[in-house]
Amino acid sequence: MTTRIVVMPLAELVGFVNEWGSLPRALDQRPPSDDSVRTTLADELHPVFAASDPAERARLVTALLDRTRVRPELATHDGVLTEEWTVEDPAEKERAAAALALRHHLAEHPGRIGVCADDQCADVYVDASPAGRRRFCCLTCQNRARAAAFRRRNRAATG
Ligand SMILES: [Zn+2]
Repeated sequence: MTTRIVVMPLAELVGFVNEWGSLPRALDQRPPSDDSVRTTLADELHPVFAASDPAERARLVTALLDRTRVRPELATHDGVLTEEWTVEDPAEKERAAAALALRHHLAEHPGRIGVCADDQCADVYVDASPAGRRRFCCLTCQNRARAAAFRRRNRAATG
């Protein structure tokens, strides 16, 4: 018996890492998670977003795929042939769903993921902006970082 994998939508993947990751929770001053399975996976996914080197990203995603032993299959549903991904171990279902999503996205859009540049936030994001220069997870962080930079400049000018 194998478990069929439904590739995780990217928005769901980002939400998962930000909800359960140790670093996003700590910087957001939320209590540590009590779901160790989800937090373990989120903490495996966060470094993929944090890595600046494409080779490091490739290595991390490949290691995740290896661990799940996800494999391609050809299946039939009511006589119709379909491509499928499956795992033997149902416990690897979420990891495989996330790793496949990252593999696909990074192959199409290398570099278009990241971790928020605000120093009070470690949330991850997928960059869907036309220019591909996104640096913050959300407008709140972008505005906070801009205000902090403005205060620093003012202090430097008057002090
Ligand atoms: Zn942020």
